[in-house]
Amino acid sequence: MLNLALFGPPGAGKGTQSEFLLKKYNLFYISTGDLLRKEMALGTKLGREAADIIASGGLVPDEVIVQIIEQTITGHPDANGFLFDGFPRTTVQAYILEGLMLKLNTSLTGLISLSVPEEESVARLLKRGKTSGRSDDNEAVIRNRLHEYAEKTLPVMRFYRDRGIVQEVDGTASIDAVHGAVAAYVDRELSKRLLTIVLFGHPGSGRGSQGKALAKEFGLEYVATGAMLEEEVRSGSPLGARINALYESGELVPDDVVVPLIERKLAEAKGVKGFIFKGFPRTLVQSYILDGLLMKRGSTLSAVIEIAVPTLELIARLDRRSRTGQRMPYDSSTERIVKRLKEHETKTVPVIEKYRQQRGVVTVDGTGTFDEVFAVLSNEVKNGFRNLR
Ligand code: AMP
Repeated sequence: MLNLALFGPPGAGKGTQSEFLLKKYNLFYISTGDLLRKEMALGTKLGREAADIIASGGLVPDEVIVQIIEQTITGHPDANGFLFDGFPRTTVQAYILEGLMLKLNTSLTGLISLSVPEEESVARLLKRGKTSGRSDDNEAVIRNRLHEYAEKTLPVMRFYRDRGIVQEVDGTASIDAVHGAVAAYVDRELSKRLLTIVLFGHPGSGRGSQGKALAKEFGLEYVATGAMLEEEVRSGSPLGARINALYESGELVPDDVVVPLIERKLAEAKGVKGFIFKGFPRTLVQSYILDGLLMKRGSTLSAVIEIAVPTLELIARLDRRSRTGQRMPYDSSTERIVKRLKEHETKTVPVIEKYRQQRGVVTVDGTGTFDEVFAVLSNEVKNGFRNLR
């Protein structure tokens, strides 16, 4: 999810920038001011409670705000992300927002602070008052709103500065220039988020062909340790010969060979939206290594997907493959196929179980046609993108 909050004194241009951000990033808009005005127009109890406070330029109590904000957020769990305007306005509200975001397994991506000097705010609001029809856009109330802002709302900045997610933008520049600065910041944040998926499944489950197709479709880098090792074997290097001997015996290639290859692949990938790992991690040790490799890039695992295919079907598929050009060195005999499936059972299944307990694993039925399985997997990838924090 992409969750943004627009911050700044009344009249800083938050409403204007909201319209632009909503369109560009397809977010769900939450303006506590608008929500309160709606309650007032409907004459609800909440609206009546807020009316006098708004008219005087004070802040509506946090207890009231939490009700409307919780209703709105939890009512839209499928949103791409939220854009908050005029919220959080107090440090208590910042804590409330943190809790609500956590419930959706997400967090605030950034607080965009539009800075505008006080006199400019007053001038803008007085001008707006001529057409807005808002009773709080008159000078005495404006001064009080700015006073409330300085006293109660500015401290919210510290809360988010401590979390390192504040972006300041000069709100006195032209509307287009502010759009440009805001979009540049959001795009920068988005490009930092990488989708990282581990695709599990027995040999023959279709991980390889599906993984490659998903990578192509979604702009991900396909990291297949098998293919990387294969390349080494084909190059005929001494390392390749060592790998080949291990393949022939159906054993796993040791980590000191695999890990540097993966690290190189991650470092060399440029302009990708993320990574899809196939055939790694294969052991518990490798799962810890993967955590470390991702952490080094400021990333964590986004999703773990397992393609499930019954054993007899796997053996039949691998046997068929052994008679085609797609044959892998280890599926040249039934004995090797069985050994390989056993390796998966004893070493890789515990990794899947660990993920299942820690974070959940999505199991996809791999017995359908390629397109059927691909459609289900694609949905999972889309979910992954949507849930990126
Ligand atoms: P706005 O439309 O954001 O300028 O808000 C108009 C008025 O609504 C403010 O002056 C406050 O009285 C009230 N209000 C809006 N949002 C909040 C909030 N998050 N916390 C407290 N009061 C709010």
